[in-house]
Amino acid sequence: MARDGFDVIIVGGGVMGCSTAFYLANSDSGLKVAVIERDPTYERASTTLSLANARVQFSLKENIQISQYTFEVLERFENEMAVDEDKLSISYRREGNLFLTDDGGRQAALKALNLQKSLGCLVEWWTPEKIKQAYPLYEVKDLKGGTFGPQDGYFDAYGVLMGYKAKARSLGTQFITDEVVAVKTAGNRVAGVALADGGYLTAAVVVNCAGAWASQVAQTAGVKLPVQPVKRQVFVLDTKVKPEGVLPLTILPSGLYFRTETGGLILVGKSLYDDPVGFDFSWDDKRFREILWPELAEFVPAFDTLRLARGWAGLYAVNTLDGNAILGEWPELKGFYLANGFSGHGLQQAPAVGRYLSELILDRSLSLDLSVFGPERVLENRPLSEEGLV
Ligand SMILES: Cc1cc2nc3c(=O)[nH]c(=O)nc-3n(C[C@H](O)[C@H](O)[C@H](O)COP(=O)(O)OP(=O)(O)OC[C@H]3O[C@@H](n4cnc5c(N)ncnc54)[C@H](O)[C@@H]3O)c2cc1C
Repeated sequence: MARDGFDVIIVGGGVMGCSTAFYLANSDSGLKVAVIERDPTYERASTTLSLANARVQFSLKENIQISQYTFEVLERFENEMAVDEDKLSISYRREGNLFLTDDGGRQAALKALNLQKSLGCLVEWWTPEKIKQAYPLYEVKDLKGGTFGPQDGYFDAYGVLMGYKAKARSLGTQFITDEVVAVKTAGNRVAGVALADGGYLTAAVVVNCAGAWASQVAQTAGVKLPVQPVKRQVFVLDTKVKPEGVLPLTILPSGLYFRTETGGLILVGKSLYDDPVGFDFSWDDKRFREILWPELAEFVPAFDTLRLARGWAGLYAVNTLDGNAILGEWPELKGFYLANGFSGHGLQQAPAVGRYLSELILDRSLSLDLSVFGPERVLENRPLSEEGLV
């Protein structure tokens, strides 16, 4: 690889950029890697605005395998990412995910459950009676059951981001605060990046880890990606009736989800079909009051009295082709690698994605073959299905 400039430039220093940098630097100590991030406070990065849930409850084999690796990584993360004496905490809580099913979704849920079990995942089928017994506040009359993954859970996304960043830096990665205004090409290869401060950095490999801004970055190299920024809102509730113990991340057939948060609070959200497309971070209570609250109170009648404490809005990088990640080298531009379009489940995929991209870039054998997410499918307009559980 070229030694002038950098070997690899990563655009975007969110969890994907930092994980990829870590795996690259950890695999080849001689490699010159730069991560370019325009906002090191990460105020608008999806990573820090995420709910940070990790689950094996997917219906596509590779998404399940990705999360199995995530579970392994999260268990040892605090020790593995320690730099000298500095060890951070990621508050990893495996409190479970409960996907509820009505008549329409039962078959798909059972199919996914069988696949998860065949891959060695701990996931159980719960009857409505069992759900009611475990969580007496829930109104189960319209349910056919649900799948419960006791090992699913959540963690501190900022902690994971900082862990990857600190470790990558300790292994020699350079972190540069600037904005990439263009990915430069020479013929059908990438040549480097142009920066907002007027600088120019060369590299034979450029990795697009720009999250919800991925299409903009790709466009500068003439690459058109089916990735859109879509606003998603989260609401933090102080309910009058407090559940006894924790509630797992509970996902209703409609897509409404909620779980307990520390401090006796409840987090709730739902992806709505008309959530605005664009770089909109405004937050308001209208959707909560008009749509989410009535739906929540129907399922948990005890939650009909509450105070809306606060909330926030962040962006999903939605892959409009199929809602799955786009990973690998763009077939028409040598050296231009993509880690884009995670559509709301990317945080948990960062360990496997970082490792996969590093193996592709360094031409190493693959620990987990993720070629099913290859960008060829974008050019061929060939969606990859993930039944009902995205
Ligand atoms: C409300 C919400 C809830 C979520 N819940 C979950 C969940 O429970 N589980 C889960 O797995 N995922 C979840 N996600 C999705 C997850 O957060 C993302 O998939 C993941 O964080 C994507 O990481 P990233 O590094 O690709 O993007 P980001 O974290 O957005 O990082 C991209 C970075 O690129 C930088 N950048 C962009 N353009 C440029 C440029 N031109 N030059 C320099 N820097 C640039 C940005 O400043 C940004 O910091 C959620 C997302 C949201 C919004």
